[in-house]
Amino acid sequence: MDENKLIDGKKIASDLRAETAVKVEAFKKDFNKVPTLAVVLVGEDPASQVYVKTKTKMAKEIGMDVEDHFLDTSVAETDLLKLIDDLNKNDKVNGILVQLPLPSHIDSRAIIDSIDPIKDADGFHAVNVGRNSIGGELLNETFTPCTPLGCYLMLKKSVADLKGMHAVIIGRSNIVGKPMAQLLLEESCTVTIVHSKTRNIEELTRQADIVVAAVGRPLMVKKDWIKEGAIVIDVGINRVDHPENPGKTKLVGDVDFDEVLSVASAITPVPGGVGPMTIACLLKNTVDAAIRQQQ
Ligand code: NDP
Repeated sequence: MDENKLIDGKKIASDLRAETAVKVEAFKKDFNKVPTLAVVLVGEDPASQVYVKTKTKMAKEIGMDVEDHFLDTSVAETDLLKLIDDLNKNDKVNGILVQLPLPSHIDSRAIIDSIDPIKDADGFHAVNVGRNSIGGELLNETFTPCTPLGCYLMLKKSVADLKGMHAVIIGRSNIVGKPMAQLLLEESCTVTIVHSKTRNIEELTRQADIVVAAVGRPLMVKKDWIKEGAIVIDVGINRVDHPENPGKTKLVGDVDFDEVLSVASAITPVPGGVGPMTIACLLKNTVDAAIRQQQ
Protein backbone atom coordinates (compact mmCIF):
# COMPACT_ATOMS: atom_id res chain seq x y z
CA MET A 1 0.00 0.00 0.00
CA ASP A 2 1.22 3.52 -0.82
CA GLU A 3 1.41 4.98 2.69
CA ASN A 4 2.07 8.46 1.26
CA LYS A 5 -1.48 8.58 -0.03
CA LEU A 6 -3.05 7.89 3.35
CA ILE A 7 -4.60 10.82 5.18
CA ASP A 8 -3.91 9.66 8.72
CA GLY A 9 -6.99 10.66 10.70
CA LYS A 10 -5.61 9.07 13.87
CA LYS A 11 -2.47 11.20 13.78
CA ILE A 12 -4.23 14.46 12.81
CA ALA A 13 -6.84 13.82 15.53
CA SER A 14 -4.14 13.13 18.09
CA ASP A 15 -2.44 16.45 17.20
CA LEU A 16 -5.77 18.29 17.47
CA ARG A 17 -6.45 16.70 20.88
CA ALA A 18 -2.98 17.79 22.03
CA GLU A 19 -3.74 21.40 20.92
CA THR A 20 -7.09 21.20 22.71
CA ALA A 21 -5.42 19.87 25.87
CA VAL A 22 -3.27 23.02 25.92
CA LYS A 23 -6.44 25.15 25.72
CA VAL A 24 -8.00 23.09 28.54
CA GLU A 25 -4.97 23.70 30.77
CA ALA A 26 -5.00 27.44 30.04
CA PHE A 27 -8.75 27.60 30.72
CA LYS A 28 -8.32 25.88 34.08
CA LYS A 29 -5.58 28.31 35.07
CA ASP A 30 -7.40 31.42 33.85
CA PHE A 31 -10.87 30.65 35.20
CA ASN A 32 -10.30 28.06 37.91
CA LYS A 33 -12.89 25.80 36.26
CA VAL A 34 -12.79 22.56 34.29
CA PRO A 35 -14.35 22.61 30.78
CA THR A 36 -17.27 20.21 31.04
CA LEU A 37 -19.26 18.28 28.46
CA ALA A 38 -22.71 16.92 29.34
CA VAL A 39 -23.55 13.79 27.35
CA VAL A 40 -27.19 12.78 27.02
CA LEU A 41 -27.83 9.23 25.82
CA VAL A 42 -31.35 7.86 25.51
CA GLY A 43 -31.79 4.10 25.26
CA GLU A 44 -29.32 1.29 24.77
CA ASP A 45 -28.30 1.37 21.12
CA PRO A 46 -24.95 -0.50 21.22
CA ALA A 47 -23.27 1.71 18.56
CA SER A 48 -24.31 4.87 20.45
CA GLN A 49 -23.03 3.40 23.71
CA VAL A 50 -19.62 2.74 22.11
CA TYR A 51 -19.45 6.29 20.67
CA VAL A 52 -20.37 7.85 24.00
CA LYS A 53 -17.83 5.73 25.89
CA THR A 54 -15.05 6.72 23.48
CA LYS A 55 -15.98 10.42 23.60
CA THR A 56 -15.98 10.31 27.42
CA LYS A 57 -12.62 8.56 27.59
CA MET A 58 -10.95 11.00 25.20
CA ALA A 59 -12.43 14.05 26.93
CA LYS A 60 -11.09 12.86 30.28
CA GLU A 61 -7.67 12.13 28.77
CA ILE A 62 -7.26 15.80 27.88
CA GLY A 63 -8.35 17.00 31.30
CA MET A 64 -12.02 17.80 30.63
CA ASP A 65 -14.94 16.71 32.80
CA VAL A 66 -17.82 14.68 31.41
CA GLU A 67 -21.26 14.48 32.99
CA ASP A 68 -23.22 11.46 31.78
CA HIS A 69 -27.02 11.49 31.61
CA PHE A 70 -28.18 8.04 30.54
CA LEU A 71 -31.94 7.82 30.19
CA ASP A 72 -34.37 5.00 29.57
CA THR A 73 -35.74 4.62 26.00
CA SER A 74 -39.22 5.38 27.31
CA VAL A 75 -38.26 8.82 28.66
CA ALA A 76 -40.93 11.46 27.93
CA GLU A 77 -40.02 14.34 25.63
CA THR A 78 -41.02 16.81 28.37
CA ASP A 79 -38.55 15.18 30.78
CA LEU A 80 -35.77 15.37 28.21
CA LEU A 81 -36.58 19.05 27.55
CA LYS A 82 -36.46 19.68 31.31
CA LEU A 83 -33.02 18.03 31.53
CA ILE A 84 -31.69 20.19 28.66
CA ASP A 85 -33.12 23.28 30.36
CA ASP A 86 -31.29 22.35 33.58
CA LEU A 87 -28.04 21.79 31.66
CA ASN A 88 -28.47 25.14 29.87
CA LYS A 89 -28.76 26.86 33.27
CA ASN A 90 -25.94 24.90 34.90
CA ASP A 91 -22.80 27.10 34.88
CA LYS A 92 -20.54 24.08 35.29
CA VAL A 93 -21.69 22.64 31.94
CA ASN A 94 -20.04 24.19 28.86
CA GLY A 95 -21.07 21.79 26.11
CA ILE A 96 -24.16 19.64 25.64
CA LEU A 97 -24.19 16.61 23.38
CA VAL A 98 -27.42 14.72 22.73
CA GLN A 99 -26.48 11.42 21.11
CA LEU A 100 -28.56 10.76 17.99
CA PRO A 101 -30.67 8.98 16.92
CA LEU A 102 -33.35 9.56 19.57
CA PRO A 103 -36.31 7.17 19.93
CA SER A 104 -39.12 7.86 17.44
CA HIS A 105 -41.57 9.25 20.04
CA ILE A 106 -39.19 12.18 20.61
CA ASP A 107 -38.97 15.15 18.24
CA SER A 108 -35.19 15.37 17.69
CA ARG A 109 -35.36 18.86 16.18
CA ALA A 110 -37.24 20.18 19.23
CA ILE A 111 -34.62 18.67 21.54
CA ILE A 112 -31.65 20.01 19.55
CA ASP A 113 -33.19 23.47 19.32
CA SER A 114 -33.78 23.52 23.09
CA ILE A 115 -29.99 23.48 23.65
CA ASP A 116 -28.55 26.94 24.31
CA PRO A 117 -26.68 27.69 21.03
CA ILE A 118 -23.56 28.68 22.99
CA LYS A 119 -23.46 25.18 24.53
CA ASP A 120 -24.25 23.38 21.27
CA ALA A 121 -21.02 21.35 20.98
CA ASP A 122 -22.38 19.40 17.99
CA GLY A 123 -23.31 22.53 16.03
CA PHE A 124 -26.76 21.16 15.14
CA HIS A 125 -28.90 23.99 16.62
CA ALA A 126 -30.79 25.95 13.94
CA VAL A 127 -29.03 29.17 15.02
CA ASN A 128 -25.60 27.61 14.53
CA VAL A 129 -26.69 25.98 11.26
CA GLY A 130 -27.75 29.45 10.08
CA ARG A 131 -24.46 31.04 11.14
CA ASN A 132 -22.49 28.29 9.36
CA SER A 133 -24.58 28.89 6.27
CA ILE A 134 -24.04 32.67 6.29
CA GLY A 135 -20.32 32.15 6.95
CA GLY A 136 -17.78 35.00 7.06
CA GLU A 137 -17.48 36.66 10.48
CA LEU A 138 -20.32 34.53 11.86
CA LEU A 139 -18.04 31.50 11.73
CA ASN A 140 -16.38 32.95 14.85
CA GLU A 141 -19.69 32.76 16.70
CA THR A 142 -20.86 29.33 15.68
CA PHE A 143 -20.00 25.69 16.27
CA THR A 144 -19.43 23.63 13.16
CA PRO A 145 -20.72 20.04 13.16
CA CYS A 146 -17.87 17.77 14.21
CA THR A 147 -17.75 15.28 11.32
CA PRO A 148 -17.60 17.82 8.46
CA LEU A 149 -15.22 19.97 10.50
CA GLY A 150 -12.96 16.92 10.88
CA CYS A 151 -13.14 16.22 7.13
CA TYR A 152 -12.32 19.85 6.39
CA LEU A 153 -9.31 19.88 8.72
CA MET A 154 -8.00 16.70 7.09
CA LEU A 155 -8.45 18.21 3.62
CA LYS A 156 -6.53 21.29 4.72
CA LYS A 157 -3.63 19.00 5.68
CA SER A 158 -3.56 17.65 2.11
CA VAL A 159 -4.14 20.87 0.14
CA ALA A 160 -3.04 24.31 1.28
CA ASP A 161 -5.49 26.17 -0.95
CA LEU A 162 -8.83 24.61 -1.80
CA LYS A 163 -9.92 27.60 -3.91
CA GLY A 164 -11.50 26.68 -7.24
CA MET A 165 -11.43 22.93 -6.63
CA HIS A 166 -14.52 20.96 -7.58
CA ALA A 167 -15.87 19.02 -4.61
CA VAL A 168 -18.59 16.43 -5.01
CA ILE A 169 -20.29 15.45 -1.76
CA ILE A 170 -22.30 12.24 -1.76
CA GLY A 171 -25.07 12.61 0.83
CA ARG A 172 -27.13 15.61 1.96
CA SER A 173 -27.77 14.94 5.64
CA ASN A 174 -27.92 17.82 8.11
CA ILE A 175 -25.08 16.36 10.14
CA VAL A 176 -22.59 15.68 7.34
CA GLY A 177 -23.43 16.49 3.71
CA LYS A 178 -24.99 19.94 3.99
CA PRO A 179 -22.53 21.45 6.51
CA MET A 180 -19.64 19.92 4.53
CA ALA A 181 -20.88 21.74 1.43
CA GLN A 182 -21.01 25.03 3.33
CA LEU A 183 -17.48 24.66 4.66
CA LEU A 184 -16.11 23.98 1.18
CA LEU A 185 -18.13 26.79 -0.38
CA GLU A 186 -16.62 29.11 2.23
CA GLU A 187 -13.20 27.98 0.91
CA SER A 188 -14.33 28.93 -2.62
CA CYS A 189 -14.62 25.36 -3.86
CA THR A 190 -17.21 24.63 -6.54
CA VAL A 191 -19.56 22.31 -4.72
CA THR A 192 -21.91 19.66 -6.06
CA ILE A 193 -24.08 17.64 -3.68
CA VAL A 194 -25.47 14.33 -4.92
CA HIS A 195 -28.01 12.09 -3.18
CA SER A 196 -30.26 9.10 -3.69
CA LYS A 197 -32.31 10.81 -6.40
CA THR A 198 -29.31 12.06 -8.42
CA ARG A 199 -28.94 10.57 -11.88
CA ASN A 200 -25.55 9.33 -13.09
CA ILE A 201 -23.64 10.01 -9.88
CA GLU A 202 -20.47 8.48 -11.33
CA GLU A 203 -20.37 11.07 -14.12
CA LEU A 204 -20.37 13.83 -11.52
CA THR A 205 -17.85 12.23 -9.16
CA ARG A 206 -15.49 11.60 -12.10
CA GLN A 207 -15.26 15.40 -12.56
CA ALA A 208 -14.35 16.00 -8.91
CA ASP A 209 -11.02 17.08 -7.46
CA ILE A 210 -12.42 16.16 -4.03
CA VAL A 211 -15.00 13.47 -3.28
CA VAL A 212 -16.59 13.27 0.18
CA ALA A 213 -18.68 10.12 0.61
CA ALA A 214 -21.27 10.26 3.42
CA VAL A 215 -23.88 7.75 2.41
CA GLY A 216 -23.96 4.67 4.62
CA ARG A 217 -23.62 2.15 1.75
CA PRO A 218 -20.61 -0.17 2.09
CA LEU A 219 -17.94 0.17 -0.63
CA MET A 220 -20.28 2.06 -3.00
CA VAL A 221 -17.64 4.33 -4.52
CA LYS A 222 -15.54 2.40 -7.02
CA LYS A 223 -12.29 3.12 -8.84
CA ASP A 224 -14.03 4.21 -12.06
CA TRP A 225 -16.00 6.86 -10.12
CA ILE A 226 -12.80 8.74 -9.29
CA LYS A 227 -10.61 11.00 -11.42
CA GLU A 228 -6.87 10.27 -11.36
CA GLY A 229 -5.33 12.38 -8.59
CA ALA A 230 -8.55 13.25 -6.75
CA ILE A 231 -8.69 13.45 -2.94
CA VAL A 232 -11.20 11.08 -1.35
CA ILE A 233 -12.69 11.50 2.12
CA ASP A 234 -14.69 8.51 3.34
CA VAL A 235 -17.19 9.35 6.10
CA GLY A 236 -19.08 6.06 5.94
CA ILE A 237 -18.99 3.59 8.80
CA ASN A 238 -20.59 0.30 7.81
CA ARG A 239 -20.39 -3.00 9.64
CA VAL A 240 -20.26 -5.92 7.21
CA ASP A 241 -19.59 -9.66 7.41
CA HIS A 242 -15.87 -10.36 7.54
CA PRO A 243 -14.83 -11.90 4.19
CA GLU A 244 -12.16 -14.15 5.74
CA ASN A 245 -13.58 -14.88 9.21
CA PRO A 246 -17.06 -16.42 9.03
CA GLY A 247 -19.24 -15.24 11.91
CA LYS A 248 -17.12 -12.11 12.42
CA THR A 249 -17.77 -8.59 11.17
CA LYS A 250 -15.56 -5.67 10.15
CA LEU A 251 -15.95 -1.93 9.54
CA VAL A 252 -15.76 -0.57 6.01
CA GLY A 253 -16.42 2.84 4.53
CA ASP A 254 -18.60 4.00 1.64
CA VAL A 255 -15.52 3.90 -0.60
CA ASP A 256 -13.96 0.73 -1.96
CA PHE A 257 -10.62 1.65 -0.44
CA ASP A 258 -8.50 -1.08 -2.07
CA GLU A 259 -9.68 -0.11 -5.56
CA VAL A 260 -9.75 3.68 -5.15
CA LEU A 261 -6.29 3.84 -3.56
CA SER A 262 -4.72 3.26 -6.97
CA VAL A 263 -6.29 6.38 -8.56
CA ALA A 264 -6.66 8.82 -5.66
CA SER A 265 -3.82 11.16 -4.73
CA ALA A 266 -4.93 11.03 -1.08
CA ILE A 267 -7.56 9.03 0.78
CA THR A 268 -8.85 8.52 4.32
CA PRO A 269 -9.02 4.94 5.64
CA VAL A 270 -11.92 3.38 7.56
CA PRO A 271 -11.38 2.92 10.43
CA GLY A 272 -8.73 5.49 11.37
CA GLY A 273 -9.87 8.39 9.18
CA VAL A 274 -12.90 10.58 9.81
CA GLY A 275 -14.00 8.76 13.00
CA PRO A 276 -11.16 9.93 15.31
CA MET A 277 -11.40 13.46 13.83
CA THR A 278 -15.10 13.67 14.71
CA ILE A 279 -14.35 13.06 18.38
CA ALA A 280 -11.36 15.42 18.41
CA CYS A 281 -13.57 18.16 16.91
CA LEU A 282 -16.23 17.58 19.56
CA LEU A 283 -13.62 18.20 22.26
CA LYS A 284 -12.38 21.30 20.41
CA ASN A 285 -15.93 22.66 20.16
CA THR A 286 -16.54 22.06 23.87
CA VAL A 287 -13.42 23.93 24.96
CA ASP A 288 -14.15 26.74 22.49
CA ALA A 289 -17.66 26.93 23.98
CA ALA A 290 -16.20 27.16 27.49
CA ILE A 291 -13.89 30.00 26.41
CA ARG A 292 -16.72 31.87 24.62
CA GLN A 293 -18.94 31.60 27.67
CA GLN A 294 -16.35 33.59 29.65
CA GLN A 295 -16.25 36.45 27.15
P1 NDP B 1 -27.96 9.74 6.36
O1 NDP B 1 -28.62 8.41 6.24
O2 NDP B 1 -28.61 10.78 7.19
O3 NDP B 1 -27.74 10.34 4.91
C1 NDP B 1 -27.28 9.55 3.86
C2 NDP B 1 -27.27 10.34 2.59
O4 NDP B 1 -26.84 9.48 1.54
C3 NDP B 1 -28.66 10.88 2.19
O5 NDP B 1 -28.55 12.20 1.74
C4 NDP B 1 -29.09 9.94 1.06
O6 NDP B 1 -29.87 10.56 0.06
C5 NDP B 1 -27.76 9.56 0.45
N1 NDP B 1 -27.84 8.28 -0.24
C6 NDP B 1 -28.39 7.13 0.19
N2 NDP B 1 -28.29 6.18 -0.76
C7 NDP B 1 -27.67 6.75 -1.81
C8 NDP B 1 -27.28 6.30 -3.09
N3 NDP B 1 -27.52 5.05 -3.49
N4 NDP B 1 -26.67 7.17 -3.91
C9 NDP B 1 -26.43 8.43 -3.53
N5 NDP B 1 -26.77 8.93 -2.33
C10 NDP B 1 -27.39 8.09 -1.48
O7 NDP B 1 -26.50 9.42 6.85
P2 NDP B 1 -25.40 10.35 7.60
O8 NDP B 1 -25.10 11.54 6.80
O9 NDP B 1 -25.80 10.50 9.02
O10 NDP B 1 -24.17 9.34 7.59
C11 NDP B 1 -23.61 8.86 6.39
C12 NDP B 1 -22.56 7.81 6.71
O11 NDP B 1 -21.55 8.41 7.49
C13 NDP B 1 -23.05 6.62 7.55
O12 NDP B 1 -22.31 5.48 7.16
C14 NDP B 1 -22.68 6.99 8.96
O13 NDP B 1 -22.49 5.85 9.78
C15 NDP B 1 -21.39 7.72 8.73
N6 NDP B 1 -21.06 8.69 9.77
C16 NDP B 1 -19.79 8.66 10.23
C17 NDP B 1 -19.38 9.55 11.17
C18 NDP B 1 -17.96 9.51 11.63
O14 NDP B 1 -17.65 10.05 12.66
N7 NDP B 1 -17.07 8.90 10.85
C19 NDP B 1 -20.29 10.53 11.75
C20 NDP B 1 -21.59 10.56 11.11
C21 NDP B 1 -21.95 9.64 10.16
P3 NDP B 1 -31.37 11.11 0.33
O15 NDP B 1 -31.19 12.37 1.10
O16 NDP B 1 -31.90 11.32 -1.03
O17 NDP B 1 -32.05 10.04 1.12
